[in-house]
Amino acid sequence: MKDTDTSGENKHPFDYDLYVIGGGSGGVRASRIAAGHGARVGLCEESRLGGTCVIRGCVPKKLLVFASQFSEAFADASGYGWQVAGAEFDWPEMVAAKEREITRLEQVYGRLLEGAGVEVHAGRGVLVDAHTVVVDGQRYTAEKILIAVGGRPAVPEMPGAELAITSDEAFDLPELPKQILIVGGGYIAVEFAGIFNGLGSDVTLSYRRDRILRGFDDDVRRFVEAGMQGRGVTFRYHDIPVGIETLDRSPGQSHRRVHFKDGSHLDTDLVMFAVGRNPHTVDLGLPEAGVQTTDSGVIPVDDHSRSNVSNIFAVGDVTDRVQLTPVALMEGHAFADSEFGGHERPVEHANVPSAVFSQPQAASVGLTEHEAREQLQSVEVFRSSFKPMKYTLSGRDEKGMMKLIVDEASNRVVGIHLVGPDSAEILQGFAVAVRAGLTKADFDRTIGIHPTSAEELVTLRQPVD
Ligand code: NDP
Repeated sequence: MKDTDTSGENKHPFDYDLYVIGGGSGGVRASRIAAGHGARVGLCEESRLGGTCVIRGCVPKKLLVFASQFSEAFADASGYGWQVAGAEFDWPEMVAAKEREITRLEQVYGRLLEGAGVEVHAGRGVLVDAHTVVVDGQRYTAEKILIAVGGRPAVPEMPGAELAITSDEAFDLPELPKQILIVGGGYIAVEFAGIFNGLGSDVTLSYRRDRILRGFDDDVRRFVEAGMQGRGVTFRYHDIPVGIETLDRSPGQSHRRVHFKDGSHLDTDLVMFAVGRNPHTVDLGLPEAGVQTTDSGVIPVDDHSRSNVSNIFAVGDVTDRVQLTPVALMEGHAFADSEFGGHERPVEHANVPSAVFSQPQAASVGLTEHEAREQLQSVEVFRSSFKPMKYTLSGRDEKGMMKLIVDEASNRVVGIHLVGPDSAEILQGFAVAVRAGLTKADFDRTIGIHPTSAEELVTLRQPVD
């Protein structure tokens, strides 16, 4: 977009008002909103529009979670009078269906950008100075640059690490593994453990500490762990792999041997690392543009997502604030409103709700009990653990958990933690209440919807000791 007036002179000193590197959640939202405010916007994407969330993250993950939950539904169905005989799962069919949906969404993103007037360039963008991005040999200049390149799965260094997969490859495996070892204890490890287990693989999860989901409320961690164990996932705690080798594969036999620090080994079909994600900033030209990063490649930014270079901004996972899609969307939107909409909007990361699509599912907002006891003078905890109604006839022996953390001085609900069916759907609405600073008395005044699990949250009367 070389903008010239009738005299042939450049009307604008730069090709664009904004150039965005990365067409994922944060980059696409920022560019669309900025263009809506009248900015001339260019964007480059080296892979597929939609980024991690749409192409190899939240969306295909949730589709696989749906696929994996049918085995549980079939098992529960007989308690309700159904006979579901001969159900079989076809992995390639599921992968193909997932791919069709991802391609549809990718095209939707393309059309949205086009409709907003954003010029999209396919290729990897590299900064050559603070105002210039080169994409496939083509130079584009811009007054402001937004870096929204996201992250890539981390792979620990060890002999044979290349024999393992990460979540990137897990979505398109040629076949479903009979056995899989998943390394890590965070979101991705527990979600994929549930997916593979539900689809019929024999799953072992190896975590270096004592319990999965560090950082979540301890009751959430206990209930998720118990539910996963009840469904057949094996946990291997206090150990980490130190090497992986290939075994000769004869039909029906494992073909990876994983050596652990304690000297033991495990034979399995497939090893998957889910040990966090690193910012994708290598060879991005950040030093050439003067942009500072931390040792791990993260771009530090201020409340307005501005880097140390005044015209260069960054949003999303590359800034490692909270690695969640809705947070990247909020950051991208706030950036565009502030810089191009004349409406100052700093980012806010307080009370971000999140869900783990593990089986059983978990969702949290606000302070954990541990954090509340550390930060507040006096805390009341209300907790209920109960068998979801659906499990009565199905005979499934599993309890859900709901927990409210209340600041005794103000009576405000400062944390909610759920484990059980539909936790994510239930929590979204209650997150508004926490965000709005509502009190336990407000919860008590609210009439429940019967019979639901969610009504527990408005009928908890006695604090636990
Ligand atoms: P997490 O940071 O959630 O978990 C990483 C796990 O790997 C931790 O258990 C960590 O252990 C462990 N670990 C780290 N380094 C090593 C190592 N060298 N060897 C062995 N174990 C190691 O990262 P994920 O990869 O699970 O997910 C990345 C991000 O993606 C998350 O932070 C999350 O924000 C986002 N995400 C969100 C989802 C959702 O909202 N539902 C779903 C999937 C991802 P330790 O606890 O000891 O540090």
